[in-house]
Amino acid sequence: MDKTVRTRFAPSPTGYLHVGGARTAIFNYLYSRHTGGKFLLRIEDTDRQRYKPEWVDAILEGLKWLGLDWDEDVVFQSERLQRYREVAEELIRRGKAYRCYCTPEELEAEREEARRKGVPYRYSRKCLHLTEEQRKKYEEEGRRPSIRFYVPDNLDITFHDLVHGDITYNTNDLGGDFIIVRSDGFPTYNFAVVVDDHDMGVTHVIRGDDHIPNTPKQILIYQAMDWDLPRFAHLPMILGPDRQKLSKRHGSTSLEEFRLQGVLPEALFNYLLLLGWSPGGNREIISREEAIRLFDIKDVNKSAAVFDHNKLYWMNSEYIRALPDGELIRRLKEYNEYLKGKGQGYPVSDEHLPILVRLFKERTKTLKDFFEYGVFVYREDYPYDPKAVKKRLKDPNIFTYLKGLADRLEALDEWKEEKIEEVLRAYADELGVKHALLIHGSRVAVSGMAVGPSLFLLLEALGKEKVLRRLREVEERVRGSLNG
Ligand code: GLU
Repeated sequence: MDKTVRTRFAPSPTGYLHVGGARTAIFNYLYSRHTGGKFLLRIEDTDRQRYKPEWVDAILEGLKWLGLDWDEDVVFQSERLQRYREVAEELIRRGKAYRCYCTPEELEAEREEARRKGVPYRYSRKCLHLTEEQRKKYEEEGRRPSIRFYVPDNLDITFHDLVHGDITYNTNDLGGDFIIVRSDGFPTYNFAVVVDDHDMGVTHVIRGDDHIPNTPKQILIYQAMDWDLPRFAHLPMILGPDRQKLSKRHGSTSLEEFRLQGVLPEALFNYLLLLGWSPGGNREIISREEAIRLFDIKDVNKSAAVFDHNKLYWMNSEYIRALPDGELIRRLKEYNEYLKGKGQGYPVSDEHLPILVRLFKERTKTLKDFFEYGVFVYREDYPYDPKAVKKRLKDPNIFTYLKGLADRLEALDEWKEEKIEEVLRAYADELGVKHALLIHGSRVAVSGMAVGPSLFLLLEALGKEKVLRRLREVEERVRGSLNG
């Protein structure tokens, strides 16, 4: 029997969580949950120049929002410097690594030389066989050594990638002896990742396929320490529709942006899940539980996945429609609270939310749409679309008609769609005008817009008081808004 699966997500906190990172996290999460294993989280915060504490918070928050609950304590690389030094010393003792005292200037001179000769650069190994005296002399000069890993010459390294199959690298193509601990005492990525994955008992390293070229270097370190290798699975790249690497140019790419736009976490989860994996058939809407049941690394695709924003919004609209109204109201409220925290909230109170849901549930792509389409629901100073006014309120008598309609509606006891419709149509007949004149005119009067949900539903949902007031005041307000 295999030992318990332990996967990990290991983001570097140098920015908001990108959808590519989130997809990696989701696959790690699903595989651990599918196998009854553990999903671990490690923050790779040793690049102190690019690190900001708020990025760590954003990552943790983003993962929680997506529902990716991790097991065990979060591991921070910055708290493990001592451990990396220990392992580096052990590698030196084993003759697998050595101290390098070369200065940046000396290394640059070597690089320059390689450029002049037109050959790929690799470190000269000048410091590989330093005598004790030479070392002392350098130390006295105040030089601080880095530690380099000794890469054996001309050795084939083959590993079996669970997505890509067998991959072989020759050690001559790895760029020479690489630094594992910098002169400032900080580990480099390839080294820290091995020490951590080993110490955390990681059994499956699932990450983006941009890390394939790092894998042979990491394997050399495992072997030098006589540690068991984890299994590797490298996930396909995510591209934009133009088949270039997904970037800002293609639109939003961070979790934060999608959350601000009002994408539901379960919709984003579902969408990202399909970037490189499919449950078979043409099925696209898959719940988290089902995904956990069906997901397997061996079914992950090798070829790059294309991120399609429109498809994500379509999926989001499906998820919005599938929510029971009460739950949707709760989500809208929660979302608006989140926006308020960012200084971007809408002035909506609880009584407006059911109206927004009733009017727009069938027509929105995001939670934000409810608030954007429904300004007239929660603000009395809603804007009038000048084109709608020009087209729908141009009849010289329209304002008189709308006031007359208000009087008729006032007499209505039962404020229901069908009743409202009857009154409006009867009144149009009485005036001898087209029903459409009053229908379109009322719509613009109560909502400021020429399009929207069915008028009678709109009037019912807004409530009698608002409707009467708006029909009566539209003349004055439109004049004010168009002149002012
Ligand atoms: N911090 C690395 C990254 O964000 C982790 C790579 C890995 O999973 O080994 O790309």
